[in-house]
Amino acid sequence: MNSFPSTLFTGHHYAVLGLGRNGVPAVLALAKGGARVQAWDDGETARTALAHQCADLPADVAARITCAPIETLTGFDGLVLSPGIPHVLPKPHPVALLAKEAGVPILSDAELLYQAVRRAGSKARFAGITGTNGKSTTTTLLAHILAEAGVPVAAGGNLGPAALALPLLPDNGVYVLEMSSYMLERLDTLRFDAACLLNLTPDHLDRHAGMEGYAHVKTRVFAGQTEADLAVIGVEDQWCRDIAARLKAGPARCITISGAPVTPPSDVYGQANAIWHNGRKVAGIGPALPGNHNAENAAAAYAMASFLGITDNQIATGLRTFPGLPHRQKVVAEQDGVVFVDDSKATNADASSRALGCYDKLVWIAGGMAKEGGIASLVPYFPRMAHTFLIGRDAEELAATLEAHNAPYTVVGTLEAAVPAAYAVARQTQTPVVLLSPACASFDQFSGFEARGLRFQELARTVSAETTPQTGKNG
Ligand code: ADP
Repeated sequence: MNSFPSTLFTGHHYAVLGLGRNGVPAVLALAKGGARVQAWDDGETARTALAHQCADLPADVAARITCAPIETLTGFDGLVLSPGIPHVLPKPHPVALLAKEAGVPILSDAELLYQAVRRAGSKARFAGITGTNGKSTTTTLLAHILAEAGVPVAAGGNLGPAALALPLLPDNGVYVLEMSSYMLERLDTLRFDAACLLNLTPDHLDRHAGMEGYAHVKTRVFAGQTEADLAVIGVEDQWCRDIAARLKAGPARCITISGAPVTPPSDVYGQANAIWHNGRKVAGIGPALPGNHNAENAAAAYAMASFLGITDNQIATGLRTFPGLPHRQKVVAEQDGVVFVDDSKATNADASSRALGCYDKLVWIAGGMAKEGGIASLVPYFPRMAHTFLIGRDAEELAATLEAHNAPYTVVGTLEAAVPAAYAVARQTQTPVVLLSPACASFDQFSGFEARGLRFQELARTVSAETTPQTGKNG
């Protein structure tokens, strides 16, 4: 793998506002490519972090970076805005208005990556994945399938690493980009060879003028596609079914997908732990991808990989060997017939319902900062629960729902108390699964869902190790 030539953006002038996970790599990549960059963040810590990075750069590259508030954009070639900064709704940021006044495009780092790749002369192809749920899983899975098949691949975007932190790939390479709505809003020339919209349910509507606006932005993943390209679309919600009907008219080849058989049948679907294409079984799905929702992700990855020239056998290998993503129904420990599953990423009831639907009998650990509606929508899963242990700020609120349905539970407060207690109940009741799927945000007790999942993993491994049966090795 190569790095980009140092003259790609010579003579260009960019502004980067917001120096976080995406902003800093953008500043560095643009300056290394020869552009002048004006960077700014209202937070002093972020500015200091950039200064530290600049200290390690060659002097000529560092000299092209200035850190100063953005007061005009006249004469600039583009503005890169941090994902958290709105340029339309609910209210445009003043710097976004400056860009509008000066006629300067607001670009996402994915767009700039595409421009850099083409300027560097590489014909590497681009796959873009969006949707309300399953983006990270599908992106990582497709990248895994391609890598296993020997294709040079770089995956990133919304799930990280930032698009502009990815290396230059050769002509036979593939960039697999997870595209959030804000990235799709800020595209110019980027066209995906293979684009996928997995599903659409209400989310972040404040930034998109309601569901209509949100759906409109998501369909931009297909913008500019030609008959040489592939459009993959899930058909399990009405919004996507409507979009599919339009995509079927072309110009790109359109493949419909679903996690289970639907009527009328989708082109590629999941059924009985396998992927089916036009009614023919083409590949099995490995244990790291449980449930219909993951079958939908696998169907999407199959359709895109197949289009990108990967054989069914190669895809089957990739699907079988996919290790799964951390904190998404990941098995983190196993002892005496009990598996510990970390689904810490499930920060709302809808996400938890996906995991709960996968196990007939389980001990559930939930709680934290509840979302609107709490766990009311999860009542149908209560009969599967041998016991529930509740943690976090809103434990009592969740307890009320369990109480009202006579579901056995204990408010334990912390994960430290929940894990050993859950394991003890699982062993007593011959329940094969202890599932952390909180249906709540984590910030009352943790720095984020990752920290919560890591703590669960640590505790699960500790309780498993403590009960390891003594086995003599010298027998
Ligand atoms: P995203 O990147 O879109 O947030 P992830 O792949 O990280 O999605 O999955 C996050 C959670 O969303 C998972 O833990 C699971 O509960 C749920 N999920 C995953 N894939 C799907 C899907 N295709 N449809 C609905 N829910 C899904």
